[in-house]
Amino acid sequence: MIPVTKPFLPPREEYQKYLDGIWKRNWLTNMGPLSSDLEMRLKEHLSVKHLLFVTNGTIALQMAIKALGLKGEIITTPFSFIATTSSIVWEGCKPVFVDIDKDSLNIDPSKIEAAITDKTTAILATHVYGNPCDVLAIEKIAKKHKLKVIYDGAHAFGVQVNGKSIFEYGDISICSLHATKLYHSTEGGLVITKDPDLLKKIAYIRNFGFDGPEAFAELGINGKNSEFHAAMGLANLPYIHPIHEKRKTLTEAYDKDLKNLNAVKPVLHPKANLNYAYYPLVFESESLMLKAKNYLERYEIFTRRYFYPALSNTLPYLVNTKMPITDEVAKKVMCLPLYYDLTMEEVELICRYLLRIQNN
Ligand SMILES: *Cc1c(COP(=O)(O)O)cnc(C)c1O
Repeated sequence: MIPVTKPFLPPREEYQKYLDGIWKRNWLTNMGPLSSDLEMRLKEHLSVKHLLFVTNGTIALQMAIKALGLKGEIITTPFSFIATTSSIVWEGCKPVFVDIDKDSLNIDPSKIEAAITDKTTAILATHVYGNPCDVLAIEKIAKKHKLKVIYDGAHAFGVQVNGKSIFEYGDISICSLHATKLYHSTEGGLVITKDPDLLKKIAYIRNFGFDGPEAFAELGINGKNSEFHAAMGLANLPYIHPIHEKRKTLTEAYDKDLKNLNAVKPVLHPKANLNYAYYPLVFESESLMLKAKNYLERYEIFTRRYFYPALSNTLPYLVNTKMPITDEVAKKVMCLPLYYDLTMEEVELICRYLLRIQNN
């Protein structure tokens, strides 16, 4: 069986070493030494000024919206994971969808201005599959209309664009460290911002708003993460380079073997160093995509329709809106298996099946 993804696990004794420390200190959560160490090392690894290790990527998004005090309408992409939209609604704001660019599959900056009203307060965009949004175009629009920008960088760990970390763009970026992501801490998330005041505010929010043991600075929530999760993050960090290299090798093998497949990949940002987080393919039609998907499943090879359906026409708590490009792409896209333990032989096999069913 070949799953679509498989979490990386570090050698058990390396995780155990961190657990021994937890037992010795009896400090299990609440910004303990492992969490602080992880934050420090990630800042260094990612080359970012400030970041906070939090419960998960979804809470990170919600805290970002809260910290910026956003109200009214937030412009966002319909082609993302549900948490991007649900966080906006959860924070009492209204998501306003703007269609994606047909090549990058990220929000199309040229369509953003038409969606701005006097109630718009922010843009929340996703770097889909780790492929950077047109951050400079979005920045320009945000400046002109005095809007805040949040990036959902759940897929974008380690990505750089225009020579710096992708997380340095926007007022706040978030990342997910969920087990299925490229780099993980079992469950976990990051909030990244260049603004030290904003960072301080989110640090309060993460810990119920506590300012010392008997005072409160902010309306807060429990957005902390535990020492056990930090331990997994720390144990995984030394493997990030081999993980990256392996994914790159597998991606290049797919690219080479699938040259003659009638399906396309998103057009990548020209000034980005990518992280090979996913291997998406957009087929010529939904039926061709399903034919390929079903054929692979006969051999116990599992792919995923990521993202399907479009967030703009599927949620029971929102009025459906037509997004021509997203609706079309969401129907025709699927992601192939891609993870550290996947072998070159398995990639070759998958490619052989895909070409066989296409030519059938
Ligand atoms: C995984 C994911 C999230 C949510 O992250 P969690 O850590 O699972 O809460 C948000 N946005 C996108 C695009 C994701 O893929």
